[in-house]
Amino acid sequence: MSSPVAGGAARLLAPAPGWTIGADVVVVGSGVAGLTAALHAATALRVENGSVLLVTKELVDDGSTRWAQGGVAAALAPDDTPEQHVRDTLVAGVGLCDPAAARILCTEGPLRLRELAALGAAFDHDSSGALSLTREGGHSRNRIVHAGGDATGAEVQRALVSAVRAHPAIRLIEHALVLDLLLTADGRAAGLTLHVLGEGTQDGVGAVHARAVVLATGGMGQVFASTTNPPVSTGDGVALALRSGAAISDLEFVQFHPTTLYLGPRATGQQPLVSEAMRGEGAFLVDGSGQRVITVRDHPLADLAPRDVVSKAIHRRLLARSEDHVFLDARGMGETPLLQRFPTIVARCRAAGVDPVTELIPVAPAAHYASGGVRTDLAGRTSVPGLYACGEVACTGVNGANRLASNSLLEGLVFAARIGADLEHFLPSFREPLVPAGESVLLDSSIRAELGQVMTRGAGVVRSKESLAAAADQLDSLANRSSGTPDPAAWEATDLHTVATALVCAATLREETRGAHWREDHPDAADAWLGHLVTTSSGTTFESVAPQ
Ligand SMILES: Cc1cc2nc3c(=O)[nH]c(=O)nc-3n(C[C@H](O)[C@H](O)[C@H](O)COP(=O)(O)OP(=O)(O)OC[C@H]3O[C@@H](n4cnc5c(N)ncnc54)[C@H](O)[C@@H]3O)c2cc1C
Repeated sequence: MSSPVAGGAARLLAPAPGWTIGADVVVVGSGVAGLTAALHAATALRVENGSVLLVTKELVDDGSTRWAQGGVAAALAPDDTPEQHVRDTLVAGVGLCDPAAARILCTEGPLRLRELAALGAAFDHDSSGALSLTREGGHSRNRIVHAGGDATGAEVQRALVSAVRAHPAIRLIEHALVLDLLLTADGRAAGLTLHVLGEGTQDGVGAVHARAVVLATGGMGQVFASTTNPPVSTGDGVALALRSGAAISDLEFVQFHPTTLYLGPRATGQQPLVSEAMRGEGAFLVDGSGQRVITVRDHPLADLAPRDVVSKAIHRRLLARSEDHVFLDARGMGETPLLQRFPTIVARCRAAGVDPVTELIPVAPAAHYASGGVRTDLAGRTSVPGLYACGEVACTGVNGANRLASNSLLEGLVFAARIGADLEHFLPSFREPLVPAGESVLLDSSIRAELGQVMTRGAGVVRSKESLAAAADQLDSLANRSSGTPDPAAWEATDLHTVATALVCAATLREETRGAHWREDHPDAADAWLGHLVTTSSGTTFESVAPQ
């Protein structure tokens, strides 16, 4: 395949930077991964006053992190071990996890969680004073730590933001949309270009010169018509990395959350999540005729089976009954437990006119989590020297073909901290970046609504050769709608198009069904596809892995 970037361009069309600032390390994104990376980088470098710069597209808490409901997985219970957590993680990843990365996640996770509690994150405790642990899909033990019942992400975000704001070595700039990486003549990361609302001259486009760049830009859910991800999740980090020559892996593995609140056939963009922790506490799925959607005959964990299994079961039932949503029955939990454990979800449902205490909750699958992303090693380094990635934008190897529930806040904590440790020893020296040059690209922001529909139709929960070919054709024609007017909406639309093109290519090539990737025309996993599809600006290649 040719480049996933329209026209093979090396950068977004943007005015030349009108101002420049410097930092030792610049971190892009302020979710769990970016905040943790900034804190660990600042501690590791022992720098003073602003040598770690944290830039973020909108407000500091506008990413996915604050929306996380279920919690953080960690082997903390007396009957649990990191090894069991590793086993569950590898099962969910269907042969494509990197076992070394999964082991790091599960062994370092409990320590990072305790550090977070020490920073002030108030996790829920049971009546004996021990951390309260619940269970989610794919976990063989109760190991999900939560806060405020179902407001875990908000508490994690609050604690990290207050630590970052209090740190004298970290400078935070909001409303700073990062456009492209700045490279040295020998291809090392040496900073980035960005657009800051209200700053500088020349429409606010400037440059940060830095010794290292950490990408923590989160997911890409907005590439689909409906998603649990917030509006900022437009895949910018993956698109930027592709334009700068970094390797991307596993993009075809998009997890669709089985249960988002169904708000009607025309609802698009971010949809409210109905956490599977509700199923962990006894709620179950039924169709329009009251029949259970998934039972132990379909999967031993029934309603708590991995997300792809539940999403596929719902999808099949919807096709069979020509309906567009099923229902979650949480009525058996009773009003007091429901309100104590799931206050956010109950309030959101009631706002939409559904009372979970007495009524069935209408639900449908939506794009939720990108298992793939910018490929890193176990220290968070990408294939471009000086460029690191962590959190959902990264592909560290812990997810494989599917992410185990509640492993992603943990992944952000663990691998961001490892970047800090790497920078302590290997922070590159300062190198002058080249002035951005080469072909540029910009697509018209009007492509965005169509792009989401194309992706949901052609590359959604269920895919086939035909659906993917149609999506590829439609993306090709959207690539012709170029724009000469740079602005945030056009930059985001262009990034979404790049990500969508790379994703459709990988999903087309992978002729099997595995984890979160379901091909109707290839319904089984195939040994020949035991490996990773790795995409760069020049195309996609396959790298096989050994059977686990
Ligand atoms: C509704 C919902 C519920 C979830 N529940 C759970 C759960 O219970 N447990 C769990 O483990 N995981 C959960 N997840 C997944 C988890 O929340 C995310 O994977 C995780 O928070 C990602 O963290 P992050 O720091 O990588 O990205 P984010 O938190 O998304 O942060 C990304 C940051 O990058 C910024 N950014 C993006 N592009 C640019 C740019 N071009 N320039 C500058 N800044 C940019 C954004 O503004 C944002 O600040 C959930 C996700 C959602 C959406």
